[in-house]
Amino acid sequence: MKPEACPCQSKKNYQDCCQRYHKDPSKVPTTEHLLRARYTAFVYKLPSFIKQTMIEPAIKAYDENFILHSPIQWKSLHILNKNKGDEFDNEGTINFIVTCLETKESTKPFAVKESSLFKRINGIWVYEKALSIENNPIAK
Ligand SMILES: [Zn+2]
Repeated sequence: MKPEACPCQSKKNYQDCCQRYHKDPSKVPTTEHLLRARYTAFVYKLPSFIKQTMIEPAIKAYDENFILHSPIQWKSLHILNKNKGDEFDNEGTINFIVTCLETKESTKPFAVKESSLFKRINGIWVYEKALSIENNPIAK
């Protein structure tokens, strides 16, 4: 397989970045790695990784059909700031913005700004819930 830039915008190749976490979620070292790997899993339509890295209440909204068949085109992930969530923490939050297009044909990107809460359960980082979500159309 040809090296391919990882969609999470780490500037690494997928093979050296999120792929190893997609193979084994227990290898994810920090919340930032988890957020990036979950974003990449949406881009590459990998529902099992997304499901494995969620708990209640977030997992109530898990929708495999959406992940596999949504027309959304994921454009970018931008991390604004984070609190804790490092190797020796058991929880952490990250504020980030995701931009996407509703379909391949749409020309106007939209943005979702979210603050996510993550927990480490039995050594594995998981997404617990969104603390806040804002939908902002991008003026471009
Ligand atoms: Zn990546």
